[in-house]
Amino acid sequence: MTKPIIGILGGGQLGMMLCDAAKEIDIETHVFCPDDDCPSKGRSTYFSIGEYSDEEKIIKFSNSVDFITYEFENIPIKTIDFIKDQNKIRPGKQSLLLTQDRLTEKRFLDKLNIPIAPYKDLKTIDDVISSQNQFINSIVKTRTLGYDGKGQFNLRQSDDPNKVFNRIVSKSIIEKRIPFEFEVSVIIGRDINNNTTIFPIGKNIHENHILKHTFSPTNLSKNQINRLVDYSEKIVTELNHIGVLAVEFFITKDQILVNEIAPRVHNSGHWTIDACSVSQFKQHMLCVSGKEIKQPVLNNSAHMINIIGEEINDWCGKNNTDRLKIHLYNKKKAKKGRKMGHVTELFDKGKIF
Ligand code: ADP
Ligand code: MG
Repeated sequence: MTKPIIGILGGGQLGMMLCDAAKEIDIETHVFCPDDDCPSKGRSTYFSIGEYSDEEKIIKFSNSVDFITYEFENIPIKTIDFIKDQNKIRPGKQSLLLTQDRLTEKRFLDKLNIPIAPYKDLKTIDDVISSQNQFINSIVKTRTLGYDGKGQFNLRQSDDPNKVFNRIVSKSIIEKRIPFEFEVSVIIGRDINNNTTIFPIGKNIHENHILKHTFSPTNLSKNQINRLVDYSEKIVTELNHIGVLAVEFFITKDQILVNEIAPRVHNSGHWTIDACSVSQFKQHMLCVSGKEIKQPVLNNSAHMINIIGEEINDWCGKNNTDRLKIHLYNKKKAKKGRKMGHVTELFDKGKIF
């Protein structure tokens, strides 16, 4: 029997780990990426280099695969529209459309009655002034193309609103700064038959707006877990999402707020490769290829540490041990703030963070 081929738009480290997972479940992969030197090169069964705007190449790519998925949410919608058979795209266009723009995403969450931080669409200088008065401390965030805190800056009540307004270069929103106790993320999968499963919940610590640590499982009450799961299930069901999706949350003393949705496998789920019976990457490929979703079983408690920028020098040439699993992304340049790899530290099951 011929193996199914899953096309992946994007060739970063998430694509690379999707390719590695596919091999374990007899699925072939075809990565389409504009960068000939990306982490997925050499890890996929097939590789096409091309621009996302190249209609002819995208059509050729889409005709050569059974299903198409994506490893980052900023794939242009135009690229998705080039694909003749839209049913091949998993997760579908809807998941991209609603999460590419923070404003659209927030309105979607509002519609579902899922709590989020108070926000304002930033259109005029009056929006800056009223946010300063209403929110006291807030964050200005670009509506599109932001990641790892890029396109964000802090707004204080005392800041000169004129200066702030003149600093805005792209469509943005203003969000109240939430004095959260901690951040968690839910990695949820949904298959074609609407079965959903979640991975043990991870607690996230960011440094300089970039994820640095994830710890799982985490100490949450039954009530908190129920709400986190309920919100996440509502999101995947409403999006008709096929595959894995991540929801980032802020946990305060008395509230659970959604921060943002990533319609894909997520950095805070990398530890599942080494600590669970099925990883987020395998789960995604199972769902996308139309197979039944698996219930992840936790084999070890885990702490994932991101290797960022020059930190890579401390890890090159080091070997894995029973308790330490090193994953490097083979990126040539160690730029500041660039994710170069991650390490998962394993603990006996039963440890709760
Ligand atoms: P990105 O798309 O870059 O991940 P996020 O909106 O998730 O952007 O912001 C990155 C991090 O910045 C968050 O995980 C959190 O630590 C911090 N942050 C973002 N928004 C807020 C907020 N409203 N209140 C407090 N911290 C925030
Ligand atoms: Mg985020």
